[in-house]
Formats: sequence, C-alpha cells, structure tokens
Amino acid sequence: MSSLTDLYQEVILDHNKRPQNFRVLTGEAVHSAAGDNPLCGDKVTVYLRREGDRLAEVTFQGTGCAISQASASLMTEAVQGKTEEEVQRLLTAFIHAMKGEEAPDLGKLEALAGVRDYPMRVKCATLAWHTLHAALEEEDAPVSTEE
Ligand code: ZN
Repeated sequence: MSSLTDLYQEVILDHNKRPQNFRVLTGEAVHSAAGDNPLCGDKVTVYLRREGDRLAEVTFQGTGCAISQASASLMTEAVQGKTEEEVQRLLTAFIHAMKGEEAPDLGKLEALAGVRDYPMRVKCATLAWHTLHAALEEEDAPVSTEE
C-alpha cells in the first residue's frame, strides 16, 4: 500500500522548493498557455520557444501544491531540446502512466508515480502537461482540469 509520504518523495519536495526553469519567456517565437486545476487551486503557465522542430526552451510559472509545481518543473527538464514529436510521445506516455495505464519507463518522472492511487492528485500531476499541449497547439483558451 502506498502512503501519503510516498507521494511526497524527496525529488518532488526538492523540485517544489527549487523549481527548474521557473521564469517567463518573452519574444516573437514564444508561445504560452495557462492551466488551472480549480479542485486543488493549482495554476501553471507554460512558455515554449521553438527552434526548427525542437523546443529550444520550455519554462513555467505557477502556484499551487507541491505535486503540481514539481511536475511542471520536472516536465520542463524532460522536454527541453526535444523535437515536437518526441514531446508529444512523452506527453501521452506520462498521462497514461499517471492514470495507471501501461507506459514506457519515464526515468526521473517516475517520482510522480505515487499519485496513481489518488485520482484527485492525478490532476495536479498532469496539469502542466495538458498546459504544455495547449501551448504546442497554440490554443488561446485556458486549460482547466474540470472541462
Ligand atoms: Zn494540486
């Protein structure tokens, strides 16, 4: 049985305390999207800058619970420099894994695997990824976990 302490493993607490790529990106080639998880009060804005078919820079800003912020931080690290196709594949795999479905090994992102047993927390963990997807698709409407 997983306990709530497993949820807040060291890597999650560390990324929450010292988030990576926590900054606003500006410039012509930058796209951003905003995401909201009203059930928990998590908010995330994801910024990306493309260079050819790669994501040269991915950053975020946000507030909310440790899981939502750590997941955003881990995500920016995981997708930096990857091609859009690789990112879409990782995104799908991550969301499957968080729902407890079959998925390939996610490396460092496995730190978030503890949320599988807590459906409310799955929304915290996947918020940044849904928001990244919206930024990739250049959708203007904000993303909500409740729509
Ligand atoms: Zn949350």
